[in-house]
Amino acid sequence: ESKSIVADKKIRTVCTYCGAGCNLEVSVKDGKLRSIQAPWDSKVNPGHLCLKGRYAFSFYDHPDRIRTPLIKKNGAFVEVTWDEAGDFIVSEIDRIIKENSPDHIAGISSSRCPNEENYLMQKFMRAVIGTNNIDNCARVCHAPTALGMQRTFGTGAATNSIEDIKYTDCILVFGANPTDAHPVTGAKIKQAAMKDTTLIVIDPRRTELARYAHYHLQLKPGTNVALMNLFFYYIIKESLVDVSFIEQRTEGFEEFKQHVLSLNIDELESITGVDRHLVCNAAIAYASAENAMSFHGLGATENSQGTSTVMMIANLAMMTGNIGRPGVGVNPLRGQNNVQGAADMGCQPNQGAGYLDVTDDKVHALYEEFYGARLPRHIGYKIPEMYEAALQDKLKAMWIIGENVVQTDSNSRMVVKALDKLDLLVVQELFMTETAEHATVILPAASFLEKEGTFTNGERRVQRVNKVVEPLPGTKPDGQIITEIMQHMGYPQPDYTAHGVLNEIAQIVPFFKGITRENLGESGLQWPVNDGGIDTPILHEETFKRGRGAFYNQTYKETSELQEHSKDYPFIVTTNRGLEHHNSGAMTRRTPNEQLITEDVLLIHPDDAKEYSIKSGDMVCVESPRGKTDIKARISTAVKKGILSTTFHFSEIMINNLTSDVCDSDTLCPEYKVIAARIRKSRGK
Ligand code: SF4
Repeated sequence: ESKSIVADKKIRTVCTYCGAGCNLEVSVKDGKLRSIQAPWDSKVNPGHLCLKGRYAFSFYDHPDRIRTPLIKKNGAFVEVTWDEAGDFIVSEIDRIIKENSPDHIAGISSSRCPNEENYLMQKFMRAVIGTNNIDNCARVCHAPTALGMQRTFGTGAATNSIEDIKYTDCILVFGANPTDAHPVTGAKIKQAAMKDTTLIVIDPRRTELARYAHYHLQLKPGTNVALMNLFFYYIIKESLVDVSFIEQRTEGFEEFKQHVLSLNIDELESITGVDRHLVCNAAIAYASAENAMSFHGLGATENSQGTSTVMMIANLAMMTGNIGRPGVGVNPLRGQNNVQGAADMGCQPNQGAGYLDVTDDKVHALYEEFYGARLPRHIGYKIPEMYEAALQDKLKAMWIIGENVVQTDSNSRMVVKALDKLDLLVVQELFMTETAEHATVILPAASFLEKEGTFTNGERRVQRVNKVVEPLPGTKPDGQIITEIMQHMGYPQPDYTAHGVLNEIAQIVPFFKGITRENLGESGLQWPVNDGGIDTPILHEETFKRGRGAFYNQTYKETSELQEHSKDYPFIVTTNRGLEHHNSGAMTRRTPNEQLITEDVLLIHPDDAKEYSIKSGDMVCVESPRGKTDIKARISTAVKKGILSTTFHFSEIMINNLTSDVCDSDTLCPEYKVIAARIRKSRGK
């Protein structure tokens, strides 16, 4: 007798794989997830999901899920109870604080976790441990966006909504490949370009989206600042600046203009490797469009001049008056589903919940009163500084939630050395990742499908995450784990409910003031949300958060990676993401997507391949000053001669053994996009 396949219930929640924040309608039968569809009434993704959102969910009950706490004893993990794990962690934390200080402990929160859990993690570190050593993975992706947009506009978040693609005449995609990394957004951009919207793509690779572009500026990796100055030069020379917007809303333009006009355009053209006439035509297209909007990704931020690049993207919008109305603005394509939220909730070492400066006396007093605890007022370690501190014995313990830093952070070997120096490494995880293997204690966490809360997508839309299935036996939601440890350490945190924590957040985060779980409804609300529950789809309509928008002069500086190493390592490797997999693959490699793409490959230009006698499918040894790996070659004209490109999803390749310690000087966001390298044909592993 055949069993009915009709679902017992359908539950709406939000995708965990990228900052587009697509809504999912999940069918559940007999307590198990059966399928995922796109709701037609979604504001974000009516009727549309990508390969990851629709199909890559079977990781949630995969046999590899960790289902009991583990403590490492004599080099091997031993199963323990939650009480034993809690006692051990708390006694180790007490010891480290007594023997050293609270600043010898640091935490990395997870931007895949809901706001409520991120809020609790930073509260735990600040109010219970007593340190500002808390960060999240925005450090290694969009920290330059947050800082660059705060400096120029006053707010480090997208100015508009993805829906505004409908109202724009020109789209600039800068250092992003949304077709693979934010597919639902990428499809909207592609559809617009196929109609009558002008598309400009700035990218060292000829991505699929670049094939739809009217202008593809295929610059040399790491030369964003030079390219943007060339772009500005032509807008000023062609008198396409918006004089009245500049006069009424901004400051610093005259000095900025003089700086741009003083630059040597022959030099800029040669640095970028892009024909000046193409840049000129693209600049004219952007500046003369009635409404132009930009989307930028990690190609803009993960460079030694990442913050400068973002400030230039913001300045481009300001100089052409493309701010404060539908169809314009500066719109970072946030990577993780809740990376906007992790920073909003205060998981960063200089700003607490709501971006309030932890060193400011008034803010400090406000937080102390609200948390009922003495708090540190000096800025804590950023993620790269945590590793450095661990290597120098200035850090004794780390607590990492849902981040596989060994595979995804730059210069992996250094990361491993740092983690192995610690007395205590607590990891909350679903699986035995490359990072979890180095843990002292592993706490089995629940996935997004097993928990409640809210995610904030890349357009500041706070949306409800609903529990689809019960947590697997033995696992707990991250928020519950942190709450129980806080209580174990004597802090009077109420028992965990996502609802209760959201109410607490609304009391301390000014732009969450009018948010309740109920009024978020199915479509969510875009912060800031006022007392009356009215949200804000467009920022900076009348004025900027900082008052006047600020222009800054920027000058191109070649990265030290190339200055020091390009003689011996003549190629540049640039890394990126693929459609089928998510970051380190911990989730997607445990779904049928694993069968679609089974390895990272290295793109090599045909001229380079010929010179080194390499054919597609050959194994190649690619080597940087930090390390080397063997990887399969794919001959491709998507990259220019001298440029190599690969994804970083497979731990078997571990491309981050090659990436460097060079960072954006303002935010310490690592430079994943420019790696000096050399290649040779190899026999493989
Ligand atoms: Fe999920 Fe992003 Fe795909 Fe939407 S575009 S389904 S949020 S991975």
